[in-house]
Amino acid sequence: TQFTTAQLEPILRSVIAILETQAILLNVEITVSLERPLPQVHCSENQLKQVFLNVIKNAIEAMPGGGLVEISACVHKDGSVRIRIKDGGPGISQELIKKIGEPFVTTKEKGTGLGLMISSRIIEAHRGTLGISSKAGEGTVVEITLPVQEQRS
Ligand code: ADP
Ligand code: MG
Repeated sequence: TQFTTAQLEPILRSVIAILETQAILLNVEITVSLERPLPQVHCSENQLKQVFLNVIKNAIEAMPGGGLVEISACVHKDGSVRIRIKDGGPGISQELIKKIGEPFVTTKEKGTGLGLMISSRIIEAHRGTLGISSKAGEGTVVEITLPVQEQRS
């Protein structure tokens, strides 16, 4: 996999563009609020796209009757970037959250149960973190942190 220095915003925007049609069909609104400027990140663009695609798609699919997906990004004091994807769906049970690192855990008829597992691994490979917080009935927040760009020799 090729790591390059990339801007986060176009990566996020391209993924949202892919999911826009599905969102409109489900009456889901996607809002984006980004701190500017966001620092560049040392990443595999394709892998990060895969992560955002998985997580934002999950958020949309959590609200088949419509709702709001809020995407935001900000910079931590230490320079790392935090990206939050929040939905107003049914939430994920603690039981399921514990199992999310395992493959093939899905509650969807046509789900693969691979999305979050792959996403976690990708973020790990970027030396970042992926956290899920959710309460039944109160929606879900997925928080991804990516480290400050390191100098590589
Ligand atoms: P898949 O989407 O193929 O089912 P994932 O690994 O992406 O696989 O997600 C695993 C399971 O976690 C989903 O089937 C769903 O039950 C739950 N899940 C993931 N994201 C959300 C979310 N935003 N809201 C509610 N449940 C979620
Ligand atoms: Mg998924």
